[in-house]
Amino acid sequence: MKTFRTLALILAGLGGLASAPMANAQGVIRDAEIEGILRSYSDPIFEAAGLKPSDVDLFIISDPSLNAFVAGGQRVHLNTGLIMASERPEELKGVIAHETGHIAGGHNVTRRQAMEAGNFTSMISIGLGVLAIAAGAPDAGMALIGSAPQFGLLTLFKYTRNEESSADQYGLTFLEKTGQSADGLVAFMERFRYQELMSETRRDPYFRSHPVSTDRIGIMRSRASDISARASPQSEESLNQLAMMKAKLVGFLQPASRVFSKYPKSDTSIPARYARAIAAYRALDIKAATLDTQALIADFPDNPYYHELMGQILFENGRIMESIPPHRRSVELAPDQALLKVNLARSLSETKDAEHLKEAEGLLIDALVLERENAFAWNQLARVYARQSRVGDADLATAEEAYAVGDIQRAFVFSRRASSKLDPSTPNGRRASDIAAITDPRLNGRRS
Ligand SMILES: [Zn+2]
Repeated sequence: MKTFRTLALILAGLGGLASAPMANAQGVIRDAEIEGILRSYSDPIFEAAGLKPSDVDLFIISDPSLNAFVAGGQRVHLNTGLIMASERPEELKGVIAHETGHIAGGHNVTRRQAMEAGNFTSMISIGLGVLAIAAGAPDAGMALIGSAPQFGLLTLFKYTRNEESSADQYGLTFLEKTGQSADGLVAFMERFRYQELMSETRRDPYFRSHPVSTDRIGIMRSRASDISARASPQSEESLNQLAMMKAKLVGFLQPASRVFSKYPKSDTSIPARYARAIAAYRALDIKAATLDTQALIADFPDNPYYHELMGQILFENGRIMESIPPHRRSVELAPDQALLKVNLARSLSETKDAEHLKEAEGLLIDALVLERENAFAWNQLARVYARQSRVGDADLATAEEAYAVGDIQRAFVFSRRASSKLDPSTPNGRRASDIAAITDPRLNGRRS
């Protein structure tokens, strides 16, 4: 049986919320746009490493410190702090290539550390924007906060010098194979080289686990310049993508004052307009948020993420019916994005209209086909079933949600409940007894 494969703890704090007690907590954030960009950066590198991109999980961790790490085999984690500190796509891609080098080299940290953190913790899937809403309605967000351990534990590991140089060499090879400059990786290391001189505790986690050294940089530099001489420059698109990712993260995660100093009104670039629209949304300045977002949609009607933002703004402002068309448009423009389907389903479900509930159910099931372990989608599906008075199905969806986040006890309780209400000959009835069997405390007791 495949156990709970992912990690995380959700943080009431994301999406904003200077006031939230967990604002500094680490956790995985979900965002279709940022994940798409990171995928376009990393998939060619994974392929160059002989990995199947769909086998590599990529997580964005909300944490302002610099860090990137691999855990549990093929799971790459990137801190928001790293993304925001990257001045050029080459830097971020260089770090991704180096991390991929640790995968290629089989430097399995969790095994060595015997922490196996990845086996105990679980992933909670919740969107960057949805989270901002959840923070205002704690029941939705809090129900999803598992008892997952802190990522902090994972940052205690340290690669050996040999592993570091081996990952560097692999990383350079992957950049070379993808025809990209390796200058960014060297520049990134050089920019933070001063950390070598700092005490261990003051270093960014990245440089605690991946010790930077003059030797290391020196060895990389000669090969890197050779690779870079033959590389093609980063595409215009790649440059824009980094700017958009950074603007979105700053907009969602940093205080409004920071947003407006980084992106003053005089800056009319697209990323600046995006960051300000998001900041207005977080500040509950609905009028400004709506106007700014409408202007972006007018200029780029085919960008699904502007429609997504518009849907979120309206939803959070209690304008549920009005939030449906923009969310629907985002799904039409990006039909393979589970997170966008969940947003639309959420708006539909909130109207409590029978037709809407039926549509929401279909969307959530589609989303769960794409992302089986999306706990937030299970949570929303449970609500849809409850609103349709399908109590057994609602209990089963709650059991699935608990199972997806690794809350075995709750999964057991709800699957037993579901089992008592559902016909055992139906797929849902069978699934309920399967979860009950897997999560049975007697069985788990025997195992440990
Ligand atoms: Zn490393």
